[in-house]
Amino acid sequence: MKNIIGLFFCFLVVHGFGQEISYADDIDQTKPEVMEVLALFENYLHSNPANLKSSPYWNKAEQEKHRQFDFLESEFQPSLYMGLATKVLSIDLNENSGFIKVSYGRIVKQDSSGLLAIVNYGLKREDGSYKLCNALSINKEKWSCTSLGLVDFYYPPYHQFDTLKAKKLLAFVDETCRNFKVPKKAFEYYLADTYLEIQRLKGFDYAMGEKYSSGPSGKASEAKVYCGGLGEYYPHEVFHVLVDPQFPNRHFWASEGIATLLGGSRGESLDWHLIKAHHFLLAHPEIDLNHMLELRNMDLQTAFHYVLGGLIARRLYQTGGWEMLIALMQSGNTDADYYQAIEDFLCVKQANLNAYIRKELALEVSHLSEE
Ligand SMILES: [Zn+2]
Repeated sequence: MKNIIGLFFCFLVVHGFGQEISYADDIDQTKPEVMEVLALFENYLHSNPANLKSSPYWNKAEQEKHRQFDFLESEFQPSLYMGLATKVLSIDLNENSGFIKVSYGRIVKQDSSGLLAIVNYGLKREDGSYKLCNALSINKEKWSCTSLGLVDFYYPPYHQFDTLKAKKLLAFVDETCRNFKVPKKAFEYYLADTYLEIQRLKGFDYAMGEKYSSGPSGKASEAKVYCGGLGEYYPHEVFHVLVDPQFPNRHFWASEGIATLLGGSRGESLDWHLIKAHHFLLAHPEIDLNHMLELRNMDLQTAFHYVLGGLIARRLYQTGGWEMLIALMQSGNTDADYYQAIEDFLCVKQANLNAYIRKELALEVSHLSEE
């Protein structure tokens, strides 16, 4: 079957804004409404959607409500619209709405390598013509919604809403905003048993690096928190959505470390990750933590920026409380800035970090085993 589908792909290539657009040849180009949608999508891609503040091709309601109105744009770095081969796979229209399915990156035979994502955009008629909208806006109408305080919780119909957990999250919102002196703000909180369900809700049929594991996973973007596997209480991402935008001059490790200190990471506490990192680093004496910012993932569940960033955040909090964590969040976004902040606030020079981190990890683990 897959081979037959593969035969349908024929390439009518148009060169857009650095982006090559083609169409599956079973798209019925004799229908005027299909041609209208193809022209709409082509115009949108030609308009350099990575940097748009407004667009005549996107529906007005989402543009008025969201600064980054195309939610898929920032799902990849530097952008979904980075000049990859783009193919319209199908267009599905009803009376006044529909979907357009598009792939980014090349499908190499039936192998998905080279394919970045297959995504769906929504379509809605506005003033007589079709406009693009986020698939999320259409798909979420089939989910349940409970509003509590400033948070709108969206969840699949099978989920039994846990009010106690939701209230615990609201308490975390209050505390975090107070401690970091940031304003409270409304946000949407999407939860499901698995992150894959969230991906489908957002409009992804496939995304490179998609988290297929059943373990907890989350992501924050402008006024939206997405999380799978932890129900109504996923404080790590809530920290990001509330605090990060107020501190643009922050290092990635500063934010990830504090989020992990306060809310754990991938469903496990900072302590859990610290024990793991201690044993991992004992087995790997060759790893030079004087350059720890170059390290990425320890394994699928633990990343160095969470666990070591969390350890640094804990030491800063023990030294100077919330004020010192706030100072870290505004201490600069380059690696040199982060190393300098550690030296300024903890009196540890970069050249001594390897010894320091290993010693402090051992200390944490010995405290934990005493408890
Ligand atoms: Zn994070």
